[in-house]
Amino acid sequence: MSSDCPFCRIVRGDIPARVVYEDDDVLSFLDANPLARGHTLVVPKTHHERVAAMPDDDRDAVFGALGRLGPSVQAAVDADGLNVGMNDGSAAGQEVPHVHGHLVPRFEGDGGGAVHSIVRTRPDLPDEEMDELEADIRHAAE
Ligand code: AMP
Ligand code: ZN
Repeated sequence: MSSDCPFCRIVRGDIPARVVYEDDDVLSFLDANPLARGHTLVVPKTHHERVAAMPDDDRDAVFGALGRLGPSVQAAVDADGLNVGMNDGSAAGQEVPHVHGHLVPRFEGDGGGAVHSIVRTRPDLPDEEMDELEADIRHAAE
């Protein structure tokens, strides 16, 4: 637990939140500044700043809850789809340093973009560099 982390404060019950789901490992509540009706967050009850810092059980609990809650969120607001995502690290737009997954309901014609719209300029990578990247990531994942 981190005393000045807003999501730890919500988990402790020190500040209010619109809680939609809770179990031993995760808490899920409405985003206070929603991108769409029903925008919901899922957080581990234990403080971890980045996805990579989570032990397997917390990570499985968060991703499992995102998968199970997604259809409920979508149905509750009669949405047509969902963006399920995480900003992992400040360079990726993470503002609250406590892991959280976003469930953002999407509606046909809502004018929003795909995950692909988070980057404005795409790199133009030659095949050789793609080959290197494949090898580097495969090696790092061993
Ligand atoms: P991120 O950029 O992924 O770190 O997004 C943080 C999200 O947390 C934003 O969408 C905020 O609107 C949301 N948020 C921040 N503080 C609270 C809070 N106290 N209760 C609910 N949502 C919050
Ligand atoms: Zn925290």
